[in-house]
Amino acid sequence: MPSSSRELRRRAREIKLLLMDVDGVLTDGRIYYVPHPRRSSEVFLETKTFHSRDGLGIRLAHEAGLKTGLISGRGSPVVEYRARELGLDYVELNALEKLQPYEKILGESQLRDAEVCYMGDDVVDLPILKRVGLAVGVGDGHEFLRKHVHYWTRRPGGAGAARETIELILAAQGKLRSVLQQYLQSGPS
Ligand SMILES: [Mg+2]
Repeated sequence: MPSSSRELRRRAREIKLLLMDVDGVLTDGRIYYVPHPRRSSEVFLETKTFHSRDGLGIRLAHEAGLKTGLISGRGSPVVEYRARELGLDYVELNALEKLQPYEKILGESQLRDAEVCYMGDDVVDLPILKRVGLAVGVGDGHEFLRKHVHYWTRRPGGAGAARETIELILAAQGKLRSVLQQYLQSGPS
């Protein structure tokens, strides 16, 4: 059930770790199959598209002291590269059943459910969404999720939903102004 803005802020203040699904959350959900340039016609490379503003959002989250991670049902070298590039703290791939890797991350991070925000777009994300302190569905996610999350983003998956969620958390924690302020100070006056 979507929360009131006061309840949302209360939940967001507790968050220390942002976990995200990949397909449909950090991407728009499309998976592109590109013919392998040096192999037979039956071999394809898989690729997908990320948004640079989500990437900068994740950097801002790290600067503000948040940990981040992803749990994906698929395995993909592109996702591994993106996760390394952004310095994500936890990366769990090939996780068709997502609760097990979630609990592994909880154990490693020594955090409680209430300190985790999870972002999902489809029904496979529900087991985690029903556990975490701040459950977020992306704006173009499966409608069934809507009544099970605390927040439904305005932006769609792969196009700013992660950035919107990070800014919501940082604003509730009183950290957003200071992480943005550095960009005002470092530019020409
Ligand atoms: Mg998904």
